[in-house]
Amino acid sequence: MILAANLKCNHTRASFERYCEILNANLGDEILSKHEILVFPPSVALNLGNHKFIQGAQNFYPCQNGSFTGEIGKEMLGEFDISCVLIGHSERREILGESDELIARKFEFAKSQGWKIVFCIGENEAVYKEGKTKDFLASQLEKIDLDYQNLVIAYEPIWAIGTGNTATSAIIDEILSFLRTKTKAPLLYGGSVNLKNIAEISQIPSCDGVLVGTASWEAENFINLIKEAK
Ligand code: PEP
Repeated sequence: MILAANLKCNHTRASFERYCEILNANLGDEILSKHEILVFPPSVALNLGNHKFIQGAQNFYPCQNGSFTGEIGKEMLGEFDISCVLIGHSERREILGESDELIARKFEFAKSQGWKIVFCIGENEAVYKEGKTKDFLASQLEKIDLDYQNLVIAYEPIWAIGTGNTATSAIIDEILSFLRTKTKAPLLYGGSVNLKNIAEISQIPSCDGVLVGTASWEAENFINLIKEAK
């Protein structure tokens, strides 16, 4: 499985260094033979150490460098050997106002670098209640290359993110099976994954892994969650 931690706007340079130490000390061969671990810290906390997990960037601007105030380009990520990025997270779409056009440009840039892309999609509660989830997800995938070989898709229903309201296994399986008709990319589920539900979610046949927010912010919690994954 792929188990990915989205630390969001949490952790400083010092606290993430400690987080890395705990993860590195606990990611033994048995875990690493079964799972790939990705961790997305805030950019200012990116760590220069050697890790047993893949360190990724939560955000970047599709440029080498340049006049893009407040942004982070390839040159800065390169200093930390970053070749894995999150794109399309609902918080960046909804709170930071990222458009489909910018998301598509980020995708093309990351693809041109050969980076691993964890591409997030997901419907809000209104779309879900209207029964339009599949149409909505298909539209979110329209502008990206679903055959890109370093692509991972994360299905994250917005109504399940940070709410404790995890999608049922039946919903996850139905949606991931639908996505499987469109791409060969590994398919993750995200939305209130925690220590109690990881065992069940990780056994859903269509599910290749999870993207975890809240339950990954403490290194010990994330390690315990990884150990529960089947
Ligand atoms: C996320 O935002 O990617 C996420 C899955 O958050 P949480 O696990 O807190 O629902």
